[in-house]
Parts: sequence; C-alpha cells; structure tokens
Amino acid sequence: MGKKRNKATKRPWTKKQYYSVLQGVGSNNVKWLCKHAGNRTFSAVSSKLNRHVGLGGITRGSYTLSYLIRTTGYNFFQLKRAQRALKQKWKKTSKNGYYLITEDQFEEIVSWLGLDYWSKSHRLYKCLWCHSRNDHHKVYGLCDECYKEYGKKLYALNVNRNLCSIRKFAIDKLEGVVLEKALKFLDKNRAIPVDILDVLHVR
Ligand SMILES: [Zn+2]
Repeated sequence: MGKKRNKATKRPWTKKQYYSVLQGVGSNNVKWLCKHAGNRTFSAVSSKLNRHVGLGGITRGSYTLSYLIRTTGYNFFQLKRAQRALKQKWKKTSKNGYYLITEDQFEEIVSWLGLDYWSKSHRLYKCLWCHSRNDHHKVYGLCDECYKEYGKKLYALNVNRNLCSIRKFAIDKLEGVVLEKALKFLDKNRAIPVDILDVLHVR
C-alpha cells in the first residue's frame, strides 16, 4: 500500500545535507536549499525541516507578504512602493510562489513607511506571539493576553516567570538550534516563542 511507495522513493539524508540546509535556511533561497539537500524537492526539504526543527521550517526568519499586510495594515501597493524605494530584493518560495521577506527587510520597510513601534523598549512592531498591535505591551514582548498565556504555560512546566528561571529551564531542556533560538529571545528579555514551549509540553 502507501508504505511500499514511500520505500521506493526514500533516499536517506546525509549529515552534510541536513546541516547545510539547517544553516542555509533564512539566508538562502529555495533553489539553493533543494540543491544542497542533494537535489530534493521543495516539499521533501520543507517536510524534513518541519519534522526536525518545527519552527516554521523553511520560512524561518522570513515573513510572507500577506503576513506583512496583516501585521502592518498597509496594502500590497504601499508595500511594493516601499520595496522599490528601498531597492529590496524579495525571495520567492518558487517561481509562482510566495514572497519571503526577511526580518531586516521587514524592519526597514516599516520604518520607511513610518509605522511606530508597538513596544518602544523592545523595538517591536507587534506582539511576539499573537502578532497583533491591538492590545498594549505588557512584558517580554507580549501583550496582556499572551503574557497570561505565557504564565500559564510556564506554570504547567513548573517554571517561575522570572527571566533567570526561564533561562535555566531552557538550558536544561533544550538543545541545538532550538536552544539557540530560545536564547536569542531570552537575551533580549523577550518571551520564548510559543512553538518551542508547546514542544516541551508534548514531551
Ligand atoms: Zn499577543
């Protein structure tokens, strides 16, 4: 049945392929990733990443254009105008696929368009978790609601809400790229991304 078909097409990943994809994600385009994964398809690469990293996989560190429109409230034409003015090159997931905008490009665009920070102290344009600007910033880059949620999740994991305890917990429980990612947020006094916390819940 389905099992047989999978077996026929399965080609094991080498360590080298896996690591070059892990390191290349976010700074290389999809064509590059597929090639360095040993000429695999986009769906093979992204499912591998989703399975092993689980942090947005191939679009890690990038935003889609529709996401930008949702977060900033600017429309397609305003964002394209900003792109042209700033001479930015946006990557695409494939020839007819989505635009991918990096975090740096995102920041450049919103400042060009004159959007104010949602949290000045954190230099954030929206809540880290729910990506909205509706609520007020509470702490750790989160709005009131998300901070409540953060507290609940930490409580369920038996961790105090102070940065020291959260950091110690992260170092204890996480490793590799996931730990690195968590520390990037903690170093900036921000909350750990919700997908990382949820992985810990499942364990
Ligand atoms: Zn929020």
